[in-house]
Amino acid sequence: MTNTSGSMTSTTPGLVNAHHHLYSALARGMPAPRATATSFAHMLELVWWRLDAAHDVDSIYWSAKLGALEAALAGTTCIIDHHESPNAIEGSLEAITRACEEVGVRVRACYGVTDRWGDNGVLHQKVSPLSTMTKAAQRGLEECERHIKAGGDGMVGVHAAFSCSNETLEAASELAQRLGVGVHIHVAEANDDLQAGARLAHLAKDNWLLVHGVHLDRELAGWLAHNPRSNMNNGVGYAKPTTRPNPVVLGSDGIGADMAEESRLAYVRLREFDTSQTPDTVAGWMHNARRLFPASETDEVTWRYPAAENAWHAAFTTAMRVESVKVNNQLVVQAGTTTRVDEAEVRHKARAAAQRLHQRMESL
Ligand SMILES: [Zn+2]
Repeated sequence: MTNTSGSMTSTTPGLVNAHHHLYSALARGMPAPRATATSFAHMLELVWWRLDAAHDVDSIYWSAKLGALEAALAGTTCIIDHHESPNAIEGSLEAITRACEEVGVRVRACYGVTDRWGDNGVLHQKVSPLSTMTKAAQRGLEECERHIKAGGDGMVGVHAAFSCSNETLEAASELAQRLGVGVHIHVAEANDDLQAGARLAHLAKDNWLLVHGVHLDRELAGWLAHNPRSNMNNGVGYAKPTTRPNPVVLGSDGIGADMAEESRLAYVRLREFDTSQTPDTVAGWMHNARRLFPASETDEVTWRYPAAENAWHAAFTTAMRVESVKVNNQLVVQAGTTTRVDEAEVRHKARAAAQRLHQRMESL
């Protein structure tokens, strides 16, 4: 089709970010870590576990709103989110869902439970598989249950096997089965989680969403969310998704939601590993994501490029711009900006919320 300015455009279904952390949208500009991380677990402790501990419901809302806005602008209409905020558990999924609805993007939310915060509020670097479930983990499961029973699109979230007791892993699995949803969990992202395969083998189901799997030592049932940018950023290794039997989908792991860009990165990283691969492999991962989040098929993204739907064009055309986005047949992006919320206002208020959040981080 030709738009009013005479340039050629093309349309695709909505894109899906199969693993996001909307709570990290306000991380940009946060205080520098107090030390240089010496391992993946140390980095989590220095950076990400300080950020999630500093969140309150207001900052969760603005983080999700900014993240949703940036997703919409990139043509990503469906977000599968994994959320943690140990000092603001109750109401967190409602805040995320509301923020996404206001922008006009779809979200499948979960609270990611963990036993790393002991009942005394102390952070445990190592969680024994044989320890008992913490109150915080129980409250996280209850938040997932409340969200799903209220009719929300959701999953049961688990941070990772290494930060949970067996009791918690089993309770999450049991709750997911009871609610008819999958478990969304980080799996063997780094060497710190090498036991994940052994500990989850008897629990994992086909509707689970296994995130990363970089160091996974066996086959595990579920979808595999591959996050190449995050894996490179953290230096954890390459997940080699083409060597896995699982259906592969792409996620950003919290670094934005520009899935066209993520797919181009996934492609060049794949080629570095195996030059016999073609763009059709990554296009297949994008297609898998539409099966995982079928509502994306009914969404419509119009690109300022005449062949956005062609895998070979999409793999090599950088900075393919989004002109408009329709969700549920309603325009949520028009002429490159959001229609339901004022882009400038959201960015301004999110920046103020980020400053408050970063101040709280300093005091933790
Ligand atoms: Zn993640």
